[in-house]
Amino acid sequence: MIYPWLQPALDQWHQQLAANRQPQALIIEGNQGIGKSAMTRAIVAELLCRAPKPEPCGECQSCRIYGSGQHPDLILVAPEKNLIKVAVIRELVRFFTATAHSAPHKVAVIRQADGMNTAAANALLKVLEEPPAGSLLILETDRAHYLLPTIRSRCLQLKLQCRAEQYPAVKNWLQKQKPDLSADQLAQLWALSPGLPLQIARLIDEDVVSQLASHMSSMLAYLDDRQSLTVVSQQLDQEVKANHWPLLQTLFLHWLKEEHRPQSEAFQWSHDLRQWFFKQPCGSGLLLNFCQLMNTIMVNLNNQTKTRLLIESMLVKVKQRQVS
Ligand SMILES: [Zn+2]
Repeated sequence: MIYPWLQPALDQWHQQLAANRQPQALIIEGNQGIGKSAMTRAIVAELLCRAPKPEPCGECQSCRIYGSGQHPDLILVAPEKNLIKVAVIRELVRFFTATAHSAPHKVAVIRQADGMNTAAANALLKVLEEPPAGSLLILETDRAHYLLPTIRSRCLQLKLQCRAEQYPAVKNWLQKQKPDLSADQLAQLWALSPGLPLQIARLIDEDVVSQLASHMSSMLAYLDDRQSLTVVSQQLDQEVKANHWPLLQTLFLHWLKEEHRPQSEAFQWSHDLRQWFFKQPCGSGLLLNFCQLMNTIMVNLNNQTKTRLLIESMLVKVKQRQVS
């Protein structure tokens, strides 16, 4: 069973097959948390099965081998330290040119394909120019525009999306996975990660909502003079994970949007920090500046700059009511 929000894309793929237009290369594009790997798994399972299409039978030898986690007619490569080198792609090309073992097709999957360097992309291009019969190459990516145009033009693109009108289906699915969740909590999470149901499921597992609330309480404790800069910046430096910063930013931008268009949508997620901002003169400008200062933290997370110093600088500027 495919996730409900991916069904339209899978249907689109089946239409291609039904029209005898199976491409030899496919780009599966979508943001992290939409389900690209799940889509790949569904397509690969169908292709490797020896029984009549479209659903994989789960019983033939090929299905059983795939079910065991490995299959001689499937190769899967992924970046190492965000990079896919040419040696890895050459190996993939060798695999492609060998005869299939037990399945009707040979399938190669490249995860985060935009991580290929130029040499790797060129090596891949060669196999795309003359793809071996009965093979399928699947490129997964968050950023298809990072792939060479010559690669893109040789692939069918399957764009995975989960639009606002699919929210009821997502809500049903999430409520089945997490029965304790209220409709309000789900609406909050959807606002944090709109269109990314698997990311929402991860946020629930990691209890991110209460962690964000705790970060905001720490920030407020400094801003309204209940706690020192040293204590708060140390706390935030230790506790705010890399993926929390963009979530906080998204939340604050929601507050700003609501402040200006209160009727636009029902978003039930408040915090005393929000009241603090909008009590200040130029509260909106100050909150916007806060969001921009968070950018500085996010872009410097992986370099030598001490995050704690950037956090301190951000908090001090906001406390001094600096509006840029
Ligand atoms: Zn089968």
